[in-house]
Amino acid sequence: MTVDVVVCGAGPAGRALAHRCLARGLSVVVVDPAPRRRWTATYAAWMSELPGWLDAGVVAAKVDRPVAWGVRRHELPWMYAVLDTDALQQSLDIAGAQVISERAVEIEPGSAVLESGTVVSGARVIDARGLGRSPQRAEQTAYGVIVDAQRSAGLEPLFMDWRPDNGANRTATRSFLYAIPLGGGRMLLEETCLAGRPALDSGELRTRLLHRLRSRGIELGGDEPVERVRFSVEGARPGPDRFGAAGGFIHPATGYSVAAALTAADSIAAGASASPLSARAVHTLRAAGLRALLALPPGDTPVFFDAFFTLPPHRQQVYLSGRTDLRGTAATMTTLFAALPTRLRRTLATAVLPRRG
Ligand SMILES: Cc1cc2nc3c(=O)[nH]c(=O)nc-3n(C[C@H](O)[C@H](O)[C@H](O)COP(=O)(O)OP(=O)(O)OC[C@H]3O[C@@H](n4cnc5c(N)ncnc54)[C@H](O)[C@@H]3O)c2cc1C
Repeated sequence: MTVDVVVCGAGPAGRALAHRCLARGLSVVVVDPAPRRRWTATYAAWMSELPGWLDAGVVAAKVDRPVAWGVRRHELPWMYAVLDTDALQQSLDIAGAQVISERAVEIEPGSAVLESGTVVSGARVIDARGLGRSPQRAEQTAYGVIVDAQRSAGLEPLFMDWRPDNGANRTATRSFLYAIPLGGGRMLLEETCLAGRPALDSGELRTRLLHRLRSRGIELGGDEPVERVRFSVEGARPGPDRFGAAGGFIHPATGYSVAAALTAADSIAAGASASPLSARAVHTLRAAGLRALLALPPGDTPVFFDAFFTLPPHRQQVYLSGRTDLRGTAATMTTLFAALPTRLRRTLATAVLPRRG
């Protein structure tokens, strides 16, 4: 039997795509070794990135003008949305699909070979199997605690806070505090290593988080639920039928991909390429941006983000969200480069050259 679309991988990207294909009346097979695995990660996005078809009930909390700290305080002129993960997973309904609980071991145009040897055929076969981990790949890591309404009272939501009050050695890789409301008065307070090769480990991030919270007068009870984050931010191979993290949708400067996948799902369901030429070119520029991030001297990281958050809002926005906007992404990178202190420009100019091997 040949169906219209075979989607391999039922994470946020694969499930969103299967859902949009079903909404178009297409026949869909979803392949995933654990298709009913409950998602537990806290997903967030810029409100403007969420597509109109998405159920408004998946937004658990909104932050108007979230704050970022480099050396200075910046109010970002956008609305930030924190998603209700359970509601998101449920709203991406795939009840009309045939679901196969298996691994796809080989994906080719027109077919996927499963671990059992079964071959599933489809007019289109999409690889949404996510990104594997490897020591060669830069990763984002984080350690967070969820505090209740009483402990979170008065805390300001923070998109990124690079202030140095987390007890880390001044020459060590920097990490920042991410503090977002989850709805119901609860907040996630998370110490985050934006990108590292290797990234900071969970133990170090926990120590830093506790130090930082203590220095801000926030005492924990010790029984708070914990979120641990670790995922690759490089190593994807963009392609017309590779979607989500597998297709290079993760932005290495934020680690975000969920909203980009939700946004693109409809057009891909309608037959568009997951990675048009413009997206591949932006992916190459973003990879250069990642090399710059990894090369930043720790003491200069807040200076770099001050320069970024001082750019005109549309320049920032296009860099954060413009997955296919080559001209805008290049213009933001050029403008940012020109705004940096000379010593940083020299370091970053060398770093952005492609890696050998
Ligand atoms: C704790 C945490 C918090 C995060 N917060 C955010 C956030 O706020 N905003 C954001 O945008 N991103 C965030 N991210 C990153 C984002 O979650 C990931 O980029 C996202 O999960 C990628 O979705 P995906 O569907 O492309 O891949 P995945 O979520 O990795 O899903 C891949 C799916 O493929 C399946 N699979 C694997 N191998 C096979 C195979 N061989 N055959 C078939 N199926 C297979 C897996 O079982 C899985 O279901 C976060 C990540 C973590 C871990």
